Amino acid sequence: MSMPAINLGRMPAVARSLVFGRSLRNLAALTAGCLMLGAALAEPATAEPFEGCPSNDIRARFEEFGRTGKMPPDMGAWLSNPKAQYIEPWKAFDNVYYVGICWVSAWAIRTSDGVVLIDTLHEPHVDQLIANLRRVGVDLAEIKYVLMTHGHFDHVGGAAKLKPLLPNAKFVMTQTGWNEAIEAAKKSEATPRPWSMIAQDVVAKGGDMIRVGDNSFGVEETPGHTHGTASYTYDVKDGAKTYRAITVGGLGLNAIENSKQVEEYIASIDKIAEQVKRPTNPVTVHLTTHPFSNGLTELREKVLARKAGEPNPLVDPKGLLEQLAYLRKGAEERLDAERKAGR
Ligand SMILES: [Zn+2]
Repeated sequence: MSMPAINLGRMPAVARSLVFGRSLRNLAALTAGCLMLGAALAEPATAEPFEGCPSNDIRARFEEFGRTGKMPPDMGAWLSNPKAQYIEPWKAFDNVYYVGICWVSAWAIRTSDGVVLIDTLHEPHVDQLIANLRRVGVDLAEIKYVLMTHGHFDHVGGAAKLKPLLPNAKFVMTQTGWNEAIEAAKKSEATPRPWSMIAQDVVAKGGDMIRVGDNSFGVEETPGHTHGTASYTYDVKDGAKTYRAITVGGLGLNAIENSKQVEEYIASIDKIAEQVKRPTNPVTVHLTTHPFSNGLTELREKVLARKAGEPNPLVDPKGLLEQLAYLRKGAEERLDAERKAGR
């Protein structure tokens, strides 16, 4: 692999404002949907709250959700509306496609020996995921691995539909991730939006390297968002250059139980930051699990509009470190609050 020339270009203004222009207290709302949407998704449909998947507006509404604990009905309907959630799949790097929807990501990484999919979306969006994969030229039989970040329904809820359609795929998660997913699916049976989880398949451990063709997928255990959250690193290609990317498994503090879990979160953030700062083959790209968390939908426009020879705006180690520092600050505040509450 070639050593990439690191693009130290500044984080695009839109992404910067998304990451830094909000109250730390509401950081928990970032991926709040992970935990509490089951009931909210059953709300009756009303007018669509968003046009065009604007990250700032969506994040603001998640913050409102975080403050009140109550999903606004129009938001709940929007999350479960395939038409409103539609994002045309797009090529992020020569070997990477975004195949997710507006509010939650799925990534397809092509290797010299098949395709790796990161996360599975959730119903009623799995048909769209399948259509997106086909649209970018992925035959479902080419998928060798489905790497799942953590056991919340928006990331693993699609596994049950995908499993029988992917004859050559192994589904991968940490042991704790599997436990959490299976337990969450079981609990959902009593909610208006039940979902089911596949039986445990491959168990990944921190430090594992999953080799697929010409790529290698590093497993990092990054507990905090949930106890079993994993992040994955892999090579992304842009012309003659190769960069190391990471999909950070969980960003939000919405499923925190006690101070110990926040301590784990902070340690995970530090572990990821080390990978960005290391001198050899540093991580310089963050392919997020939730587009609104770092303005991915707007970055998409910049990626698609860029001219030959221009740097890929997704290569942004400085922006990633700033995002990690911001997440760490929010976690420190949360740690204080948890300790004061005696948890
Ligand atoms: Zn989650």
